[in-house]
Amino acid sequence: MSRFFSSKYEKLIPYTPGEQPTEKKYIKLNTNESPFPPSQKAQEYVKNAAKSLNLYPDPECRALNKKMAEILMVDEDQILMTNGSDEILNFAFMAFCDKNHKAAFPDITYGFYSVFAQLNNIAYEEIPLKDDFTIDINDYLGINKTIFIANPNAPTAIALKPQEIEKILATNPDNVVVIDEAYVDFGAKSCVGLINKYDNLLVTQTFSKSRSMAGARLGFGVASKAIIQDLNTVKYSTNPYNINKMTMAAGLGTLEDEEYTINNCKTVIENREYTKKELLKLGFELTDSSTNFVFAKHSDIDGKQLYLDLKKKGILVRHFDGERISQYNRITIGTRVEMEILINTLKQILEEKR
Ligand code: PMP
Repeated sequence: MSRFFSSKYEKLIPYTPGEQPTEKKYIKLNTNESPFPPSQKAQEYVKNAAKSLNLYPDPECRALNKKMAEILMVDEDQILMTNGSDEILNFAFMAFCDKNHKAAFPDITYGFYSVFAQLNNIAYEEIPLKDDFTIDINDYLGINKTIFIANPNAPTAIALKPQEIEKILATNPDNVVVIDEAYVDFGAKSCVGLINKYDNLLVTQTFSKSRSMAGARLGFGVASKAIIQDLNTVKYSTNPYNINKMTMAAGLGTLEDEEYTINNCKTVIENREYTKKELLKLGFELTDSSTNFVFAKHSDIDGKQLYLDLKKKGILVRHFDGERISQYNRITIGTRVEMEILINTLKQILEEKR
């Protein structure tokens, strides 16, 4: 730390992103990216957009918003595009949390929530998941805090039903409830259809997972016009040109090629079901995944050790040190071939332990 660093950040422990190795080619199952390239149309639009990089991008993201509004059947002013969904989550902490609106989220969830809370000097409550890693919605009824729930949750992969989320929305009418749907396209039900019923709902989604655009950084929020206006106030006070031209173009190309995304999601779900079946045969315990990853542990091998053994054999998965989840690994669903290699490698590792 330099002697110039603001004391307000002295204790801030930043988020640790998953490894992005350059030294060696791994089968990369550690950051929940799509194993499929971005759509052809996205790639073509990016090439074209590169020709006018001398000009600033449209700060209002109009073409992209219009297309997304059509797909989601909402109004254009009910959407805000951001630099990854991480950005809109941070905007939400900035806009809707303060001394009177503390934050609340599960104790086991996306690690960035607590970092954003600390960055913005917001007090927060971490509400324990049940022993089976499900969310007890009763813990969130009428708690009068700004609530952040990843649905499906990460890294547990388990989803709540929209009816359960409605109870949380209805009993916290004076607080914003943020539903982070980063993984919703892999089998859970979206809450986007509820934004006109609950003016306290903000749904966030991303192009990083189902839409094969993690490298472009594009996410968005959907909510009432008033909530989007507040988030825009924060956006125009930090970075009006938050989406660069090439990302905007890639986003539009991707949305005009929805078929490609839908088919890729189907393939990922098939590969997930295959992987679950094979992991169960090997004696793994799994949570009920509605995502593009599984959360798995094995009683014969320590979680961290398994992560290290897989890494040595060229497969990267994600291990978290948290007390309740240290025996688990989060494994992204890749192509069928990648999953077959994973299963064979796990067989080998388990054999070696015997
Ligand atoms: N929410 C959850 C639950 C995530 O796992 C991630 C990805 N790490 C994000 C949000 C952020 O994704 P991105 O910024 O790439 O949209």
